[in-house]
Amino acid sequence: MTMEPIFVQKLRALLSRLPLNHPVREKVESDLGKRVAGYKGEQSLHYYLSFLPEKEFHILYDLRLSFNNHFFQIDVLLLSKRFFLILEVKNMAGTLLFDDRFNQVIRIKDGEEEPFQDPLQQVKHQQFQFLNWLKRKHIEPAPVEALVLIVNRNAILKTMDEKSKYVEKVLHSTMLLPKIDNFKKLYKDFHLTDKDIKKIKKLLLKNNTPYNPDVLQLYNLSKTDLLSGVRCPNCSYLPMDRVYGKWICRDCDTSAKGAHLNALLDYSLLCRSTISNQEVRSFLHISSPSVAQKLLQSLNTPQTGTTINRTYKLPLQHLYSLIKKSPC
Ligand SMILES: [Zn+2]
Repeated sequence: MTMEPIFVQKLRALLSRLPLNHPVREKVESDLGKRVAGYKGEQSLHYYLSFLPEKEFHILYDLRLSFNNHFFQIDVLLLSKRFFLILEVKNMAGTLLFDDRFNQVIRIKDGEEEPFQDPLQQVKHQQFQFLNWLKRKHIEPAPVEALVLIVNRNAILKTMDEKSKYVEKVLHSTMLLPKIDNFKKLYKDFHLTDKDIKKIKKLLLKNNTPYNPDVLQLYNLSKTDLLSGVRCPNCSYLPMDRVYGKWICRDCDTSAKGAHLNALLDYSLLCRSTISNQEVRSFLHISSPSVAQKLLQSLNTPQTGTTINRTYKLPLQHLYSLIKKSPC
């Protein structure tokens, strides 16, 4: 199981820390819904792609690369010695009508028509940028193909024109493997070596910059918009009380030792990746500086500064592994 994208993690943390009546919730919920649908769409391809021989294809998910000060994003990239394949994944339900004359897609759902950005134009633009990116890095690629995959099983694909260009380039995920077989027949020559592929893969991963904005800034929020405190792992009550080295829930009497770890994770995702003693006290609702210090030291993370202005790093991976090990 791969980790959800960092932006999705941040949106989830934000929703869990915004009061139910906060005006920005609706927007965050809708953004999260779209991101999760996209992510799940990519994940659903794992099944089909797992049938490809590992030695023949290297698969990269969710690449975000910069070219000429702009970022472009590739949902799935397949690398082989004979050809590369870019997949743009769409998780849309309803009837999708592809219109050749105007390069537009109309979605018909519940009797309503809605225009969408043409995913074929989108993936062609990615292909163009990807080729330029490789060129800039002095890499001679294998031929690059691009397809749009509709992963939602409830989507019905239609074209206006019988000889539509979309027919060859837009497909349901069930048709992906036969399509790849066709490419294998089409591209018989080896353009690259295993060593080349390894090098390109390494370079792509090194340059991959996942979308990771400051979400408070993104939604025009400040720390004071967030609900602080430690959440009860049993009933979600906020905030728990610190009593004799444990967290106690006022609502359901649950006691938990490591419940502050999730709160620190939220803090790291939403506020800052470092925290001071004073900030810990205010975010976790602890009155004693020495209790706060003990909690921070028990994290075993790097510290900077002298005693008075000491800050502690809150690296996400480290917090996740502490949460996994924690008994609550
Ligand atoms: Zn509780």
